[in-house]
Amino acid sequence: MNTISGIIRIARDKVMEHLPEMVFVLDDKERIVDANAVAQKWLGRPLEQIVGGDLMEVLREWPQLLQRFFFLEYFREEVELPGSPPRMLEVIVTPIMDPSNKTLEGRIILAYDITERKNLEKELKNANESLQIQLAENERLRLQLQEQAVRDPLTGVFNRRYFAEALDKETARAARENMKFSVFILDVDHFKKFNDAYGHKCGDLVLQTLANFLVENTRRSDIVCRFGGEEFVVLMPDAQVDAAYERAERFRKNFSEQVVVYEGQQLTCTFSAGVASFPQHAASGEVLLRLADEALYASKANGRNRVTIYKPENS
Ligand code: GH3
Ligand code: MG
Ligand code: MG
Repeated sequence: MNTISGIIRIARDKVMEHLPEMVFVLDDKERIVDANAVAQKWLGRPLEQIVGGDLMEVLREWPQLLQRFFFLEYFREEVELPGSPPRMLEVIVTPIMDPSNKTLEGRIILAYDITERKNLEKELKNANESLQIQLAENERLRLQLQEQAVRDPLTGVFNRRYFAEALDKETARAARENMKFSVFILDVDHFKKFNDAYGHKCGDLVLQTLANFLVENTRRSDIVCRFGGEEFVVLMPDAQVDAAYERAERFRKNFSEQVVVYEGQQLTCTFSAGVASFPQHAASGEVLLRLADEALYASKANGRNRVTIYKPENS
């Protein structure tokens, strides 16, 4: 029958045999005094050929491991063993001290192959990085789509749908805060003739030039939109009717002097415009636009290349 200490010793031996780590026990001269089954398997030698062997000799194939053992008494470290494929080991070296804890009597070396775990970690990290890149790309595309949904493809300025929303918001804001704002609508004069004379492509260039001109010359808070064909509308927050008219008139004059160069020809174009203001002319955005359009119509009727402020008698 085994004594308790006998049972403990047998149990420890069994546990050591079943540990997935390779275990070496060294004496104070770095000689191997014990090694478990995994260590024997790794070294490819039976226990008899290992026990009594010098650590330097037993581990000569793995200098990466040896380098570390002689510098430190305790460490836990990941060590890469070259080869194809290279293997990663987690190595734990624990000193065995004499009872007074002053003299080193030996060491226990535990080494565990963590290659699979490291590979999985690497794969996970790569997958995570790809996912982050994909997410950033999705976000970029989402923003691009969102942007495209509110922009006119030819000129890049806002489209009519966006303008309708912006006008609703501005009307509500101005009503709430007791503010004024104006809309300025313009239509290129005799654009059909222009297209007929110089071609549709040239017409497109004029529309792009006009859109850029408006964006460059309006304020950041103004909203420039292509309302349709050769018609543009600008929402001018906080602009009273006179200020809006002055600005519209300046745009008209400056644009009429702007030269568009197409296939060596220097071309100019004019536009007619109408201005209407909130709340002076109408309390709803929709009506305001209609009134500005009526004023534009008056500009056309009166000879084009002019800006007209809405007046009820013009209707
Ligand atoms: P008015 O001075 O009375 O405004 O005359 P207009 O010729 O400008 O007006 P009309 O409505 O008769 O013609 C508008 C022209 O605008 C006809 C159409 O082919 C042209 N147009 C509309 N959209 C585009 C476009 O995207 N590109 C080009 N190049 N032309 C366009
Ligand atoms: Mg026109
Ligand atoms: Mg038109």
